[in-house]
Amino acid sequence: MKVLEKAPAKINLLLDVLHKREDGYHEVEMIMTMVDLADRIEMQELPRDTIIISSQAGYIPLDEKNLAFQAAKLIKDRYDVKQGVYIHLDKKIPVAAGLAGGSSDAAATLRGLNRLWKLGIPTRELESLGAELGSDVPFCVTGGTAVARGRGEQLQPIDSPPQCWVILAKPPINVSTADVYGRLRAGEIQQHPSTEAMLEAIRLKRFDLVCERLGNVLEQVTLDMYPEVKQLKECMLRLGADGVLMSGSGPTVFGLVSKEAKVARIYNGLRGFCKDVFAVRLLT
Ligand code: ATP
Repeated sequence: MKVLEKAPAKINLLLDVLHKREDGYHEVEMIMTMVDLADRIEMQELPRDTIIISSQAGYIPLDEKNLAFQAAKLIKDRYDVKQGVYIHLDKKIPVAAGLAGGSSDAAATLRGLNRLWKLGIPTRELESLGAELGSDVPFCVTGGTAVARGRGEQLQPIDSPPQCWVILAKPPINVSTADVYGRLRAGEIQQHPSTEAMLEAIRLKRFDLVCERLGNVLEQVTLDMYPEVKQLKECMLRLGADGVLMSGSGPTVFGLVSKEAKVARIYNGLRGFCKDVFAVRLLT
């Protein structure tokens, strides 16, 4: 038996850090949504008690460091599954990009193995399992658009933002999320983006206000380390994107664009800047 799952990338329309907690995690407030750029995860049952991971992408770990491996191990241990699984990851989402590629693979593995092994695990329980694997995994289990609070595991589904084009551009640098959070001085953030204002913009389906109210407190940290990310933002705005923001801890920058006629020009302009450029739609 075989199952197939799509693992879409996420972007943060808003990312705020409220404070650093005593357990070392940051208390966050994020508005996340999915875009139509996805890895494909194929899961095939094995009679032996083993987990095998393969991928065409040569630059991700294929052992127990892979988040899909960890998801499979967690399900097997928790539900006492004796069968094994062969997992193939067809990677399309750039790695260490701020697009939650690994987290989405883990979430898709949880969903897929729940089906493959007919475990009947309710979605809420899959989200809790996801929280054990990483802060972005619970959101990736259900996807859609949501406000995430706590360290990312407290989810409140909301309406999707107005449909638009999303141009994603990742400069050729890898950014470690832990490093960016490590450099953030949560008590010294000058300007917090307003979650309420963004929620209102989404509720009103006002594309102009969504663009105006984009905000990410991690952006300045990454921009200070990598000036090329700042240049990329400026370039995207110059080319005509309606709203531009870095996603997660970066370095991917996304541009929201309402008019299809502008997409090719922005896409082609960015290709001169970096190799990883995608023009996709929101997954609404
Ligand atoms: P986030 O936005 O959640 O911080 P990210 O997009 O910045 O995530 P990932 O692509 O998830 O980053 O990769 C982060 C690290 O996780 C990489 O160093 C990579 O080696 C490792 N990793 C483990 N499993 C996977 C996977 N299935 N796909 C991609 N990277 C993985």
